[in-house]
Amino acid sequence: MANPKQAQLNKIKADILAQKICPELAAGATQLVFGDGSPDAQIVFIGEAPGKNEDLQGLPFVGAAGKFLNEMLATIGLKRADVYITNIVKYRPPQNRDPFPDEKLAFLPFLKAQLAVIKPKLIITLGRHSMEALLPGLKISDVHGQPKRLGGQVYLPLFHPAAALYNGGMRQTLIDDFIKIPRILAKIN
Ligand code: URA
Repeated sequence: MANPKQAQLNKIKADILAQKICPELAAGATQLVFGDGSPDAQIVFIGEAPGKNEDLQGLPFVGAAGKFLNEMLATIGLKRADVYITNIVKYRPPQNRDPFPDEKLAFLPFLKAQLAVIKPKLIITLGRHSMEALLPGLKISDVHGQPKRLGGQVYLPLFHPAAALYNGGMRQTLIDDFIKIPRILAKIN
């Protein structure tokens, strides 16, 4: 029998399409990139928006940033199938521009609905866009790698793997922050 959480996630995806969220973005994109991984995951990763590869494959984090994310997951003994991965904005913005505030706002209820279904122990924001959507008022350079509790939920803001990929200092910081994940999760449990 199908996972009941997966059925609920499928309904949220259908709602985004039915409600024609961000029609301009949708018109310029190949497809909706909703999310990937286990609906029963203890950890959810949230990035910014799909890039070119994600847009073509319909899956989040499958390009260079995704490869780096997979490598970091392996360092803590996890595979993609063990976690759930999504983005705040679910269509690729033209030329990979930053998502606009109204686009992030339009998708936020659907992200929150995904999180309400999955009920992860730990929500990890990748980069400033998903952090600002869920943990407003923080500065990523100040708080990266520090778990934050808000409304009974634990969050961990991290640098974005795409930003860190070609910046040696930031890359090492992200790797160092990433290896704290098992300890943070153990503390929650
Ligand atoms: N960067 C993101 O923020 N999300 C993706 O899915 C891929 C790259």
